[in-house]
Amino acid sequence: RSLNGRTAVVTGAGSGIGRAIALRLAEDTAKIAVWDINGDGAAETVKLIEAAGGTAIAITADCSDKAAIHAAAEETRAKLGPIAILVNNAGIAPFTPFMDIDDDLFDKVIHINLRGPYLLTKEVLPDMLAAGWGRVINITSSSVQSGSFAQGHYVSSKGGLMGMTKALALEFAPSGVTFNMVPPGFIDTPMLRAAPIDADAFAQTLPMKRIGKPEDIAAACAYLASEEASYITGQTISTNGGRYMG
Ligand code: NAD
Repeated sequence: RSLNGRTAVVTGAGSGIGRAIALRLAEDTAKIAVWDINGDGAAETVKLIEAAGGTAIAITADCSDKAAIHAAAEETRAKLGPIAILVNNAGIAPFTPFMDIDDDLFDKVIHINLRGPYLLTKEVLPDMLAAGWGRVINITSSSVQSGSFAQGHYVSSKGGLMGMTKALALEFAPSGVTFNMVPPGFIDTPMLRAAPIDADAFAQTLPMKRIGKPEDIAAACAYLASEEASYITGQTISTNGGRYMG
C-alpha cells in the first residue's frame, strides 16, 4: 500500500469523496495537495490528515480556471515536489430540467467537470512524463450508464470525462502514466444529501441495500494509484454496490 512519499493532487478534497481520497492516499504515504474552491474545507482536510500523521497542504483554487490551476500546481511543486498522482474529483451536480438549462449553466458544468480536468491534466502531465511514472484518476459517475433525470448538463460532462480518460490512456500508454476512472454510484456526501433524492429510500433498491461511503471510492482510487495497478490503463472501477455490472 505504499505510495513511496509521492506527491498527489486531489481536487475538490475539501468535502465528501475528495476528502476521503486525500485521507486514504495520505495513509498510503503520499504527500497530499488538497485543492478546493472552498478554502475552509481544504484546511479542515489538511488538519485531519496531519492528525493522522500524514503530510498535506491546502490550496484554495478554482479548478476550472487555467491561471489558478497553474498557480496551484507551482505552489504544490514548490512545497511538495513534482506531481505524480492527480485525482480529478472536483465537480458540481445541479439538477435542471433540460429546457430550463441556460447556456451559461451548461457551460459552467462543462467548465468545472470536464474542461477543468483537461486543463489540470495538461498542467501536471509534464511532471509525470519526466519521471516516467504517473497516475491520473478521474471521478466520473454511474449516471453515464443510467442517465439521470434533469441532469443533461452533468451527465454530458461526465460522459466527456470518460471519453477523455480512454483517449489519453491510449495516447500515453507507453509512458508509464496510467489514466483510469472511478464512477461512483450513490455515495453519502453533502452533494448527495443536497440532491432531490430520498437517499435512504433509494438505498433499499440497491443490490447491497446501502448507499456507498466516500471511503469506498477512496479504496478504488488507492488501488489505481498503487504500484499494483501499473498494467491497468483506460479502465473503470465501477463502485456502486452492484447496481450496474459489466
Ligand atoms: P461534494 O459537493 O461533497 O464535494 C465536491 C467538492 O468539490 C466541494 O468541496 C467543492 O467545494 C469542490 N468544488 C466544486 N467546484 C469546484 C471548483 N470549481 N474548483 C475546486 N473545487 C470545487 O461532492 P462529492 O459527492 O464528494 O462529489 C465528488 C465527485 O464525485 C464529483 O465529481 C461528483 O460529481 C462525483 N460523484 C458523486 C456522487 C455521489 O453520490 N456523491 C455520485 C457520482 C459522482
